[in-house]
Parts: sequence; C-alpha cells; structure tokens
Amino acid sequence: MPEGDSVWRVARRLHEALGGQELTRSDLRVPRFATADLTGRTVLEVVPRGKHLLARIEGGLTLHSHLGMDGAWHVYAADERRRGGPEHQIRAILATAHHTAVGYRLPVLELLPTAEEDRVVGHLGPDPLGPDWDPERAAGNLLADPARPLGEALLDQRNLAGIGNVYKCELCFMAGVTPWTPVGDVPEGTLARIPAAARRLLAANTGPVEHPRRTTGRLRGPDLFVYGRAQRPCLRCRTPVREAPQDDRPTYWCPRCQTGPVVDRAIAGAGADAGAGAGAGAGAGAGAPSASAEALVIAFNERITARDLAGLGELMAPEHTFVDPAGAVVTGRSACLDAWRAFFAAFPDYRNLFDSVTTRGDVVTVTGRSECADPRLAGPARWTARVHDGKVTQWHVYASS
Ligand SMILES: [Zn+2]
Repeated sequence: MPEGDSVWRVARRLHEALGGQELTRSDLRVPRFATADLTGRTVLEVVPRGKHLLARIEGGLTLHSHLGMDGAWHVYAADERRRGGPEHQIRAILATAHHTAVGYRLPVLELLPTAEEDRVVGHLGPDPLGPDWDPERAAGNLLADPARPLGEALLDQRNLAGIGNVYKCELCFMAGVTPWTPVGDVPEGTLARIPAAARRLLAANTGPVEHPRRTTGRLRGPDLFVYGRAQRPCLRCRTPVREAPQDDRPTYWCPRCQTGPVVDRAIAGAGADAGAGAGAGAGAGAGAPSASAEALVIAFNERITARDLAGLGELMAPEHTFVDPAGAVVTGRSACLDAWRAFFAAFPDYRNLFDSVTTRGDVVTVTGRSECADPRLAGPARWTARVHDGKVTQWHVYASS
C-alpha cells in the first residue's frame, strides 16, 4: 500500500512529464469516462493530496486517481516499451509529444470540475507534505476520539493524510507507545510531537533518489525500526520485535521500548466471552486458533501487576493452578489471587515483559523478563500457560536464568 511519500513521488514524476504540456492523446478506460477526450488540452499541474493524485487540466478539469493497494502510474518515453502490467490492467493513458503516462490497476479514476475537488479530497486531514500542513490541527484531530487506538487514528486519513501501515508502526515506535494505546493515554507532549515526526519521515523519503523507505536515519543496517522485523532484535534494545494484526494489517512493535496494551480489546474480549459460554464467533471454544490463545496469554501476562488483579482473575479458569519456580502448586482461582495479592504487597513494582510467545498444543510459552526493584525477582524469565475454553487454566513460572 503506497504511503503519502510514494504518492508524492508519483505526482512529481507525472508533473515533470506532463506539466505544461499539451495532451496528444487521452484514453480513460473506465465506463463512465470512456468517451471523455482531453486531447488538445494542457496539463496545468499534477499534485498529491494525501494518497490521492490530482491532475489539473486546462478548462477547469481535474483527473482524480488513487493507487489503492497496488495501482501505479508509469511514465514512458514516446517509443519505450510498457512494463507496468498486462494491457487489460490499464485504466488510463495520457500522452504528450514526448511522454506517455499509463495508469495501471487504479481503483479510483474520475474526471471532475477542479472547482469540485473538495468533493473527493475535502474530507482529508492536513497533509504533512502539502501546502496546508498544520501539525496542531493534526494533533487535535488525533485526539478527537481519545478511546481510539493510536495505530487506527494514524491510519484515518481524516486526521492527517498520507500515513500508511509502515509509518503507523514506525511512528508508534518513535512515540514509545504500542499501536493499541488509546490516543487519550498517550502523554500529551508525545502526542503533540507525532505530526512533526510524520512530516519528517514523509519528507525524508521524497528526495530525488529513490531508495527503500527509511525511518531510522541510519545509512547502514535496517531501514525501519520495527516494520517487517518480527522476531528480529529491536534496533534500540535488542528485544525481539513482535507482530500481531491490528484491523487485519500486520503491525509491529518492540515490547520493551513501547508501553501500553498490545492486543485489541476485541481480541481479548473474544477469549473472555468464549470462557463465559457467550462467545459464538471466531476464536471461541476449545478449538480456538492459537492466535487467540496467544492473545489471551499476552493479556494475562500484562495483567500481572499490582494494579490489575481483578483483570487477572477474569482471565483465570475457576480451576486455575499456579506453579512457582520451586514447583509448589496453588490450586483454584481465589487461592491464586490471594497468593498474587500477598506477593504484590511485598513487591508492588513487579511486572513481566514478554519477548516471544509460542504455542504448542494447548500450552503457550512466553519468554521475556521480569522487572522488580528486588534484584532476586528481576531478569530473564519464562512462563508457560495452559489455555482451555478461552481461560488460562495453569500458569507456571520458571526460575529466572
Ligand atoms: Zn526496543
């Protein structure tokens, strides 16, 4: 999925080829505009607006296109062979005396009066690469729905235009919060800096030389902090990067550098509902896919803090057992919660951070580390959980190595 910077680059390429030139041929291969003929008109300019492209044409017309998931515009010299895809994927051809621009697989292609552009791009928030850029308005837009996860809010083009999934992940990393963190929980100063960071990233990737998208600012090594780097060490802290879907999009984060929730309430909720016998949807019941078991165990692990024992209890099966590093067993949900309560009375700052989660059968293994002011309880750690019917039936802590 192209992000604002790639669309910006496409617009520049189209503008360089077509801007100020008279069209010698136009061919729009969508039924509504199949008979439109732009021959003889001059292309005034091609501008990006978020992920939209607007080609303004003499006579008050705008050709609006969107690349969608895999659309593309290619520019060819007059006699160059076309390589953008098979002929049937071509949606538009605009030719001048020297160049031919060919639009492939464009999900949106329409001709409209320039005066009515707002109809197709008026809903967009400020564009970090556009003339209307307004970082304060972008931050205000993000905050408009404080309960919304930051990752989702960043992708909503009405808040600010041009952020795709790659930059979503990278911006959350740079902000030090997970993509599931409600916008309202992001520290104020951090949130205020996100729009400026978005502009920096997009602008850094619109240079004259096209190179892989880069956010790290490093000329050597990986180009991105977390995106596409599941299980590889975080560039800042070496902790393996994690991956989970957010709104069906692969989402990456560092469990150590980024604080905040790591699964959608929807996912955690599905597990809990299943245990209560109410969940009939996907992921319910004993045959639940491992992804929801893992989500449940991650949620469980995160609730092992002095602050959320009630939440922890909700994820335990009534017959829940706890096995400590010495092999001692506590049986039953309420006895286990009493044990945790006593534990946190002694070690209130204790918490677990996970690095990786793997599933084999009904056993989910979590590796990570524990943090605690008491050095005996801090360090690398491993836990296994048994999951049945959307609840954790056993939590086994192994000695820190
Ligand atoms: Zn990290």
